[in-house]
Amino acid sequence: MKTPNEVQADIWDVIAEYLIEDIDPIDVRDADEEMQDILEDWRDEIASSDTIDKILNEIRNERTAQDKKWGEQNHDRYKWVAILTEETGEVSEAALEAEHDPEWISNYRDELIQVAAVAVAMIECLDRNQ
Ligand SMILES: [Mg+2]
Repeated sequence: MKTPNEVQADIWDVIAEYLIEDIDPIDVRDADEEMQDILEDWRDEIASSDTIDKILNEIRNERTAQDKKWGEQNHDRYKWVAILTEETGEVSEAALEAEHDPEWISNYRDELIQVAAVAVAMIECLDRNQ
């Protein structure tokens, strides 16, 4: 993702390009479109990074809740896979229930966060015990 300074530099490059050349109304319109494209790309990148940050924060909060509930978990790989599989089973259940009852969609989402949090806990355990 570009920083605000990089976006500003892109915009100045476009402006400079059109200032150096002979300006006619068609060129100015082209420059304007180019700047609009740059700004739209930037807005899209910011929006997607906000969405990812929001989801990652939810996963982090779930990890904190897991540690509060269970304490530090140091299972072997097979037990971790069993825990992860149990959580993915709950995702499957919620997905199926949501076919008939839309209220299950939020459960489906919650279970996905739990699956991601368990995967993070597995990685933490692996890194801690290597
Ligand atoms: Mg669950």
